[in-house]
Amino acid sequence: MTFRALLVEKAEDGAISASVKDLQDDRLPDGDVTVAVEYSTLNYKDGLCITGHGGLVRSFPHVPGVDFAGTVEASDDPRYRPGDRVVLTGWRVGEVWWGGYATRARVKGDWLVPLPDTLTTRQAMAIGTAGLTAMLAVMALEKAGLSPPKGEVLVTGAAGGVGSVAVAILARLGYRVAAVTGRPEAAAYLRELGAETIIDRAELAAASAKALESERWAGAVDAVGGDMLMRVLKQVKYDGAVASIGLAAGAAVHSFTVIPFILRGVSLLGIDSVMRPRDERLDAWSRIATDLPHDKLDAMITEYGLADLPALGPAILEGKVRGRAVIDVR
Ligand code: NDP
Repeated sequence: MTFRALLVEKAEDGAISASVKDLQDDRLPDGDVTVAVEYSTLNYKDGLCITGHGGLVRSFPHVPGVDFAGTVEASDDPRYRPGDRVVLTGWRVGEVWWGGYATRARVKGDWLVPLPDTLTTRQAMAIGTAGLTAMLAVMALEKAGLSPPKGEVLVTGAAGGVGSVAVAILARLGYRVAAVTGRPEAAAYLRELGAETIIDRAELAAASAKALESERWAGAVDAVGGDMLMRVLKQVKYDGAVASIGLAAGAAVHSFTVIPFILRGVSLLGIDSVMRPRDERLDAWSRIATDLPHDKLDAMITEYGLADLPALGPAILEGKVRGRAVIDVR
């Protein structure tokens, strides 16, 4: 049997190329569950893996795709039977393990989550790692005491994958949401998802010499990192919290100060979606099934095929992909 996949190869001169190929099944990695993949998606990390940047892929040839959803074909894991609908995000699949940009994948049963009945495999991939991470961030903020009466919540990198889902979930939960974007043309889209206020990225991009700024946000979901994260921390209200998800603007915070933490009791919450334990994933997926309005999710989707991925990889790294790119791998 064969399957079709996006194969990333490294030439002798170090050049990386990605193309769609038919491969024999015996090239699939070891694992206890074989899945007929229906949809995958595109995350920032997929952009790195498709283009060979960031050192995430160490062994070539490689099949990227950090997320997938599909139907179990064969299973040695008693929790799964042929025909079960499943979703996988994270666990370094698509980075060190062959991933979801393929019509067939073989993985460990521990990494899979049964798909909630109310979601299609296409919707599951419109959610993907980006959506799961946005949900984990909202859950962490709630645990830190955030609730709608406490005030406005800021989302940075709002027109991206994580940001779009965070805006939609927060608005559905009754929060007033302010969305930071560098793309003025995305304003209508963000309002449609539920953002009340649109903030130009330029307003928050530069480091501020002040240790504190006026208190404005009850909480924030930050996909951008860098100096913007510090600006946000300086604007968070007393006892508020910021969930740090990403580094679209960079990892280093040049203007770091502890003043927001020690004078305003602000908390910085680290969010990792890759190694989250299974129980937490089950909770997050069941929250997603109820808290993410399906019509808003559908509005985020642009659908592509495997052959589009070599161009989509660089595009997401340049911040040019809006919302959620869903890949129909079939
Ligand atoms: P996207 O590319 O879809 O979104 C990132 C958004 O950030 C862009 O759309 C853009 O939003 C904004 N942005 C890009 N460059 C800059 C810049 N230089 N300065 C300010 N804003 C910028 O990526 P994802 O949503 O998939 O991921 C976002 C981040 O979260 C990435 O860094 C990713 O690695 C990380 N991540 C982390 C996870 C975790 O487990 N912690 C899981 C998933 C993602 P706009 O156009 O609106 O300004």
